[in-house]
Amino acid sequence: MGRAKREPNDGPVIRKEKEMVSKMIDLYCRKKHHSAALCQECSQLKEYAHLRLSLCRFGEEKTACSNCSVHCYKPVFREKMKSVMRYSGPWMLLYHPIYSIKHLLNK
Ligand SMILES: [Zn+2]
Repeated sequence: MGRAKREPNDGPVIRKEKEMVSKMIDLYCRKKHHSAALCQECSQLKEYAHLRLSLCRFGEEKTACSNCSVHCYKPVFREKMKSVMRYSGPWMLLYHPIYSIKHLLNK
């Protein structure tokens, strides 16, 4: 018996997370890598993060990734994502206070 195959997540929570993660990676790349367009490394990270969200086993019930018991990221991407979060987190607080505060309270 294999695992039941299910459709990738596409609910409002997941979509919002994808949007936020894209913004954070864009910001990080612009400020840290000084590239006008997203560099290859950051595009890969974004693609990977979106894939993880699509496949997140908690779907719409998901909590903050930093608070999750399932470490679904590969270590190399997890490290990169940590830097992005650390860097872009405070900016997000300025741009998207409600979302960020909710996210912080989730910790
Ligand atoms: Zn970059």
